[in-house]
Amino acid sequence: MFYVAYFNHTSGSIRIITLINPKGNPEVCFIIQYHQITLKYKIMKAAVFHAPGKITCDTVDDPVIQDQNDIILKVTSTAICGSDLHMYSGGLPQLRPMVMGHEFMGIVEETGKNITHLKVGDRVVVPFPIACGGCYFCQHGLPVACENSNPDHYGPEGGILTEKGGALFGYTDLYGGYSGGQAQYVRVPYAHFGPRKVAEGLTDEQVLFLTDIFPTGYTGVMWGELKGGETVAIFGAGPVGSMSVKSAILHNAKKVIVIDTLQYRLDQIKNLTGCETILWEDAKSTIEQIRDMTEGRGADLCIDAVGFEPERDLLDRAKAVINFEKGSIKVLEACMSAVRRGGTVSILGVYPVNYDNFKLGQIFDKGITLKAGQAPVHPIIDKLMKYVENGEVKLDDIITHRLALDEVAKGYEIFDKKEDGCVKVVLDPWKV
Ligand code: NAD
Ligand code: ZN
Ligand code: ZN
Repeated sequence: MFYVAYFNHTSGSIRIITLINPKGNPEVCFIIQYHQITLKYKIMKAAVFHAPGKITCDTVDDPVIQDQNDIILKVTSTAICGSDLHMYSGGLPQLRPMVMGHEFMGIVEETGKNITHLKVGDRVVVPFPIACGGCYFCQHGLPVACENSNPDHYGPEGGILTEKGGALFGYTDLYGGYSGGQAQYVRVPYAHFGPRKVAEGLTDEQVLFLTDIFPTGYTGVMWGELKGGETVAIFGAGPVGSMSVKSAILHNAKKVIVIDTLQYRLDQIKNLTGCETILWEDAKSTIEQIRDMTEGRGADLCIDAVGFEPERDLLDRAKAVINFEKGSIKVLEACMSAVRRGGTVSILGVYPVNYDNFKLGQIFDKGITLKAGQAPVHPIIDKLMKYVENGEVKLDDIITHRLALDEVAKGYEIFDKKEDGCVKVVLDPWKV
């Protein structure tokens, strides 16, 4: 193990040096010397949320072990999720700066004393929900409802600003206030339960999406309890919608229809999977086309992979202001119209507030099953890892941008504005 040190600055007893580690990566380090005592602080790079529209690559303190079930992970790859955009837009409130990111993987750097199944140097992917593994919900396959990971804001009610579910990495104080993994290092709590080792020979990009979007897309399909031969309509051709398409194919759906307002995203997923596509112009014509493709009945399963911030015109925005609502439920309403009687609507897109005029009568009349929520990654990740290992599914073909963590501001901007053909951004925390 060789470290090469470059002296950048010396001021009194403080030295700032750059260490080039054995893999050739730079690590910034403060060294404070006082008589015989030497204190070392590594300063890592991280994507920090400051305010809506302002996420920058800053230097922050390295994470440390706080509990003996923690590990410190050296992050080798991380991605920006559509959920991060809800913080970026200000749709989900966050008042203090926070290290972003819940899709990440890397190499174990340090382990707490209770961690026995992982050792320094192991390569792992980490599920995005932070879950203790021992509470009622963790034991019943619902890690996103963990009773222990989000003590300050947890509760059974599921309110707007109170009584939320379990914690998520880098996703507002309401969801636990944990630093995320769009960083060079991240603290992973409850590491006896979350991280999964990656088989040798698989690249980061092949497995990175097991942390979130593949299990999420898979969950949306799983909720539909398909038996094979069904028609699935997926609203949203972003990363989550794309993973839903791949999951519907794994479940032997006969027809997969994808709807989006962006032609380039529809083209990408059609080229990758051969699905059918509809360019959303308005709800009415979209629903009509889906009915035309399903003998007038509607799809067996509709998946909302858009959420509360769809493409909105002036009228949508005015309606939201008048009704004191955030965003719009127009995609969810289209799902409920486009699903067949007795069918299922899976809500993967995030809806953080309440909406009046929710069509309960339609749900009752059609007998729709509605399933919603953050995806329970832990109970399904091992099964999904096997699909990747066996080559039954390919996840990395949706990546359009590979950037250095230093370029994170640009990554958020193009992903948010859907510029430059952007579908999925992967960040390398060590690229200079
Ligand atoms: P994204 O923003 O890239 O994708 C959203 C897509 O919806 C875009 O392609 C956009 O053009 C499209 N869209 C906008 N208006 C539309 C309309 N009227 N009809 C059809 N499509 C429309 O984000 P993503 O990463 O794919 O995430 C999608 C949603 O899933 C987000 O709300 C995200 O927060 C959520 N999400 C949920 C979970 C979970 O566990 N439930 C996990 C990850 C992401
Ligand atoms: Zn996510
Ligand atoms: Zn728990």
